[in-house]
Amino acid sequence: MSYVTIVWSVIAAGALVLGALHTLVWLLDRRALANLAFASVAFGAAGVTALELAMMNASSAAEWGHWVRWYQLPNFFLIVGTVVFIKLYLGTGRAWLMWTLIALRVTILLSNFAVEPNFNFERIDSIAQVSLFGEQISIVGDATTAPRQWIATVAALLSIVYVLDAAISLWRTGTADARRKALVVGGAIAFFFAIAIVNTQLVVWGLLKTPTLTAPPFLITLVAMGFEMSRDTLRASRLARELHESERALQLAASAAGLGLWSWDVTRRRLWATHRARSLFGLDDTGPLEPRDLLPRISTEDVARVSKALHAAEATGMEQEVEFCVHAPGDAPRWLVARGRWERDTPSGRKLIRGVLREVTDQHRTQEELEELRRELAHAGRLSTLGQLTSTLAHELRQPLTAMLSNAQAARLLLRMPHVDRTELTAILEDIQRDNSRAAEVIDRLQAMLKRRPMDIQALPIEALLHDVSSILRNDAVRRGVALETSVEAATLVAEGDRVHLSQVLINLIMNAMDAVAPMPPSRRRVAVHARRADAEWIEIAITDSGAGIPTDVLPTIFDPFFTTKPAGMGMGLAISRTIVEAHRGRLTVENNPTDGATFRVVIPRFTAGSSSGQLDRLSGETIERGRQAVRT
Ligand code: ADP
Repeated sequence: MSYVTIVWSVIAAGALVLGALHTLVWLLDRRALANLAFASVAFGAAGVTALELAMMNASSAAEWGHWVRWYQLPNFFLIVGTVVFIKLYLGTGRAWLMWTLIALRVTILLSNFAVEPNFNFERIDSIAQVSLFGEQISIVGDATTAPRQWIATVAALLSIVYVLDAAISLWRTGTADARRKALVVGGAIAFFFAIAIVNTQLVVWGLLKTPTLTAPPFLITLVAMGFEMSRDTLRASRLARELHESERALQLAASAAGLGLWSWDVTRRRLWATHRARSLFGLDDTGPLEPRDLLPRISTEDVARVSKALHAAEATGMEQEVEFCVHAPGDAPRWLVARGRWERDTPSGRKLIRGVLREVTDQHRTQEELEELRRELAHAGRLSTLGQLTSTLAHELRQPLTAMLSNAQAARLLLRMPHVDRTELTAILEDIQRDNSRAAEVIDRLQAMLKRRPMDIQALPIEALLHDVSSILRNDAVRRGVALETSVEAATLVAEGDRVHLSQVLINLIMNAMDAVAPMPPSRRRVAVHARRADAEWIEIAITDSGAGIPTDVLPTIFDPFFTTKPAGMGMGLAISRTIVEAHRGRLTVENNPTDGATFRVVIPRFTAGSSSGQLDRLSGETIERGRQAVRT
């Protein structure tokens, strides 16, 4: 057997194996485009090697020309593959050069099949025989090179420039890894290009009487890539081991902290969760996990909130936290907090959300108990306030009742008359009806205040709130000789809050203010309540009195429970008021006025079209009540 056939076949086989390997890598990981490009290089090299062998064995000028023509096809994949591989693997190839080269190669390939005998030659008159490894092989004899060959020559030189430029740019980045790659991969390809291309050009231009020798220099690329690939494989296995170690350490730390880890690949709909995360949902360790395994276990009321948090995480790209209740069959309900963030995996574009899960059932219970306590306290506060107001409220009730009685007596007298004046009788009955409504209103308000109830956050018109409060306190103010004025900046001012709880706060503050102005002469007993829009999100209600003000040393402790300067005081009014305002996410502050008296400021959220009571969900007693029910069931 001939040495030429053996050597060229071995090179072709090596190239084919390398091509198959890289195709496999790409098939397993479609993002590995550099491997696909290298597979094109290797298959191209295998084809070029086979055609070189065919050319060396050609028995006529026509046959030799025929193989030269077909040579352009694998040569296209070899060169374009190399150019793209350099761009992807080294990352430093110039894009415009790459595209110019690709365009030139496409032009050459297409015109090659449109002309006779091929792109490179105008005519091939004869072939010659030379000796290689002791064998006679065919090379080109008399032939006329086509003028268009200049295009191929320019393309060939540009290819070498492109590879060298990419390798030098990578070398300049300076890291050891980059320099090794630049030298091994860039160097080997540049060397292969230089030898193969220069040799081919010289042969085509008739300056060198040898066969085209692309295959032997390709061996160098083969060795260089083999070396780099083994390094990549070694590094990948070391990284995998390290990753496994750090994953185990992370899981250990997470389980020590009672945290469950999870991730969700939205594109592939794949859910991954650690043992702890699964057990928090009452799931065992076996089998793949799907969103539909978890969703039915999340409390129905919380599903919307969970999905809202997921969307918010996607829209903002920020970490989001959401609390929800999980009902696993046969288990007590559990409160969990999930914290997670969206990530977009480049370049596949796959969307992932990763996060941690922790159980907060105990904290939730404590929170509920606190809420319950706050509710009790607020209720007790209301009872004590109403206790103080009993006489004035009785007076307020007595007024319409007395009016109704006198109107009823007047009606009886009217009926005894020979001619009943129906118009007057109707007017009397209407008066009775109106007084009845007034009395019913007083009773309703009292009932609302007496009830022990959770917070009910709603859109709350401030004008109506101030009207409610001042009608409860009006008589008390008159009795004490205090001028009580309420004013609202705009009738459209609407807060987000609980009507009864905020009424309680204002009543407390106004009654304190009335207490504060009590020692003053009647002309100086003034209490003003003014509501205004503080900014886009907040409303401020200021209660200003003309009393003696608050001594500066007392100011820091005034909101402390049981702080009182009144002989019969409990010292709970301000403490309760502050907790109520804070449960609305608001603030309650106090300052002394520049001239006389003090001003208490209640700042509460403004109701806007975008806002919803959902924002306050976490704080609202209603949610807690729901949670409690869920825990009980
Ligand atoms: P109580 O009214 O039962 O004393 P509060 O918590 O409502 O309980 O008030 C605590 C103390 O704060 C009052 O005893 C009083 O000394 C002081 N205080 C409250 N409001 C005013 C005010 N407008 N002017 C001066 N002092 C005030």
